[in-house]
Amino acid sequence: MVHHLNLVDMKADERPKIKPREKHGLIGLSREALKDALSVVGVPEKQRKMRASQLWHWLYIRGVSSFDDMLNISKDLREKMKAHFDIARPEIISEQISKDGTRKWLLRFPSRGAGKPVDVETVYIPEEGRGTLCVSSQVGCTLTCTFCHTGTQKLVRNLTSGEIISQILVAREKLGDFPEMDTPQGAIVPKEGRSISNIVMMGMGEPLYNYDNVRDAMLIMADGEGLSLSKRRITLSTSGVVPEITRIGEETGVMLAISLHAVRNELRDELVPINKKYPISELLEACRSYPGLSNARRITFEYVMLKGVNDSLDDAKGLVKLLKGIPAKINLIPFNPWPGSQYECSSWEQIETFADVVNHGGYASPIRTPRGSDILAACGQLKSESERLAIRESMALEAMMGRDDEG
Ligand code: SAH
Ligand code: SF4
Repeated sequence: MVHHLNLVDMKADERPKIKPREKHGLIGLSREALKDALSVVGVPEKQRKMRASQLWHWLYIRGVSSFDDMLNISKDLREKMKAHFDIARPEIISEQISKDGTRKWLLRFPSRGAGKPVDVETVYIPEEGRGTLCVSSQVGCTLTCTFCHTGTQKLVRNLTSGEIISQILVAREKLGDFPEMDTPQGAIVPKEGRSISNIVMMGMGEPLYNYDNVRDAMLIMADGEGLSLSKRRITLSTSGVVPEITRIGEETGVMLAISLHAVRNELRDELVPINKKYPISELLEACRSYPGLSNARRITFEYVMLKGVNDSLDDAKGLVKLLKGIPAKINLIPFNPWPGSQYECSSWEQIETFADVVNHGGYASPIRTPRGSDILAACGQLKSESERLAIRESMALEAMMGRDDEG
């Protein structure tokens, strides 16, 4: 800080040219990539696998964010790693805790290349018997779903797999999900158990348009010797990038959620414009052949309730018909309005009537209960600080991420 002030007083040409050294981030690398990275600091080939496992343990089980805490690694090697590698967490710009226990963090990640630092929101939603972390995959989105606030923001950039994983590391640390430093080796879960049991890729962005990073991150989340989240408790939500749906299932085995929102192409073209490229029939075909699909591993269809737009009884019946034969559950999401949005949320009565039709059709249809509305922690509401302030003044907002019957 003090150094910084001194610099300001100097003339431009007297200022030393300080260029922060670009260190390689280790968080988010696959085990293989981690081994390759270790060759850079001179770890002999025979030791790389063992060293990579040690790093994996410290990063993902112990949750340390400093090389100095990696006690079973020699000081010499730690110093070398410090000089070459980075395991820093993002800066926490703000943490908000709702009356209902929902927490929202605004995290700042450093610039990459010529870009600026980016701010990303991550939300934790505690529920009876489980806790869900809602993770972002991109800053902004290239798609322009008309009911989604992220859809009004241009894509700034994809998040790296390390930045996706870092959202989980920050949340685990803040929620006390990592074991205490003095926990005996082998005891990897804190005594009280972990808060975060489920992950949903339902923050900002379209995860299948950031395929490699999202896949790598989900494989790290599910690694049994690391973050150890069950694949059945990791859900990827997509607006319907059909060509990547089967592939992500094959390569990761995570659960799938589809942002359906309409049962006719005409309306879906408008609400979820990617439908023009991949219409409903192709989308459902991809769903039918999703790897591992069964009654125990159903697809979640998300359906945002928009008053007078997609919430009629005909729509509800159409939905039941459309999904016939697909092991599915339907997640009805009350619409979250945002300033300038052109829709209203359906009435509770209408949502319940709609849910009844879907239930009678044989599908579980949980309605997302409004959570964290006092801190604006809701779908389609994840946005930068300045925008949020404007919104806070203009309206009170509701809804998101309720229960479904899985996990
Ligand atoms: N891009 C992905 C994942 C992020 S959006 C996708 O579209 O699936 C996560 C979920 O929130 C999606 O189902 C999305 O349609 C929904 N959503 C977006 N804006 C919303 C809003 N204003 N109100 C309610 N749900 C919203
Ligand atoms: Fe992007 Fe999903 Fe929002 Fe559509 S709903 S604009 S795909 S984040």
